[in-house]
Amino acid sequence: MYAYLPDYIAKSIFEMDLEKLREAGVKGIAVDIDNTLVPMKTREPGPEAAEWIDKVKGLGFKVCILSNSRKHRTRLFMDKLGIHGIGLANKPGRRGYRGVAKYMGLSHGECAILGDQLFTDIKGGVRAGFVTVFTEYLDSNEILWVRLKRKFEQRLIKKHMDGIKRI
Ligand SMILES: [Mg+2]
Repeated sequence: MYAYLPDYIAKSIFEMDLEKLREAGVKGIAVDIDNTLVPMKTREPGPEAAEWIDKVKGLGFKVCILSNSRKHRTRLFMDKLGIHGIGLANKPGRRGYRGVAKYMGLSHGECAILGDQLFTDIKGGVRAGFVTVFTEYLDSNEILWVRLKRKFEQRLIKKHMDGIKRI
């Protein structure tokens, strides 16, 4: 059995039920940038991302960015959205997840990671003891190696779908 499956699957962060995260004990949300918060290759966050961040804050969650992208790209998103972030996070490494929990002042079990990649966002989240939400595609305009990884991801998800709740 593959050990790094998500707790939940969502169509996108915009369509997920955040109350269910609260019910699962989540108080802080870390969100990936590319293909999670915005479509791939989007230079900066648009109104949809900003509105979503406001909604998350309005519901009382802490929220920050956890991204493997370059620091200046993460910085741009932090500035535009007015939230904290960790760039060059090296997911699935645990360091970035520890940074998120520390910044939020929460235990790892009170933190959630929302991301579109099983082998980085979700694997790292499971290893760190975060609640994990795998988001399906925002965009199919992805580089080849990401598309290849998708095939493996989809195979794993299909195989284990029964155990994974939709949120
Ligand atoms: Mg991503």
